[in-house]
Amino acid sequence: MATPRLRRELEQALENVRHRTEGEASSYLSDVSDEQVDALGAAICDTDGVVTTAGDCDHVFPLQSVSKAFAYAVTLQEIGLEEVLAHVGVEPSGDAFNQPSLRRDGRPFNPLINAGAILTHGLIPGGTDGAREELLLATFSALAGEELEVDEEVYAAEAERADLNLSLAHLLAAEGVLPDDPREVVRGYLRQCSINVTAPQLAVMGATLAGGGVNPRTGDRVLDEGVVTQTLSVMMTCGMYDASGQWVAEVGLPAKSGVSGALVGVVPGVMGLTAYSPRLDSQGNSVRGIQLFEELSEQWDLHLLRHREPLAGLREARGER
Ligand code: GLU
Repeated sequence: MATPRLRRELEQALENVRHRTEGEASSYLSDVSDEQVDALGAAICDTDGVVTTAGDCDHVFPLQSVSKAFAYAVTLQEIGLEEVLAHVGVEPSGDAFNQPSLRRDGRPFNPLINAGAILTHGLIPGGTDGAREELLLATFSALAGEELEVDEEVYAAEAERADLNLSLAHLLAAEGVLPDDPREVVRGYLRQCSINVTAPQLAVMGATLAGGGVNPRTGDRVLDEGVVTQTLSVMMTCGMYDASGQWVAEVGLPAKSGVSGALVGVVPGVMGLTAYSPRLDSQGNSVRGIQLFEELSEQWDLHLLRHREPLAGLREARGER
């Protein structure tokens, strides 16, 4: 249930980070007409479907790299874990997201660095970029419980800056692992990054993961539980670019950030939490978003690795009640 206290605390947390005006917005934003570099919003959706918002929550922004986590889930759902793992690993790379990091066996390290995300996008069934996009948009919309769309202006800006992603796709094609033409896959991948959301819509997408794959607003099962566990595991270890280790230590939640300044974190069984603020730190994470999550993790005791009583299943196995 939405409580006035929860809203007040979310609003207060937002005010606590508002003064952080350092950092630059990503370069693609300079080509986008309604650029709002100092926009700031946060939203929560709990697993009962109750949404709490603070700040600029009507502002739309592209998912950018946040899309990688949800596209991984779509691919897992469609072709299964075994097939996805045969193509893309689950190890943190320790390198920047856009590096041509491939494991010795030719697989990208994980689906959240660009090489892995491009390949993961290419594995979505359909055979053409149009069919892949249709399936992706339908599933992302089901995760959000609202119709989502590609922002054509953002896509055009992304397409202008595609050299590095094209080089990664050609590298994958040279390894013989890319299922389609590299230019088509990169086009589809960049359109995936250009899907627009608001902070509340992204919070619902996070809450669908928190609810084990059931959208708490629509009641629809969008993803299988196993798909969600796999997706959250990769978000936990690889979701915050090459600051992922520090993030786990300080915030302790599976999460994904994007260069638009979007950030979604998931508290399994409890809620999806999002922040949006475009100014980025040197690793590409939202400066205010990081601080907001650090403060709320502490205040609301969200760190999943904090000492807690032994788990019920383990207690039962030990014969305890
Ligand atoms: N479209 C961006 C790219 O792949 C996404 C970058 C990001 O959010 O990290 O270059």
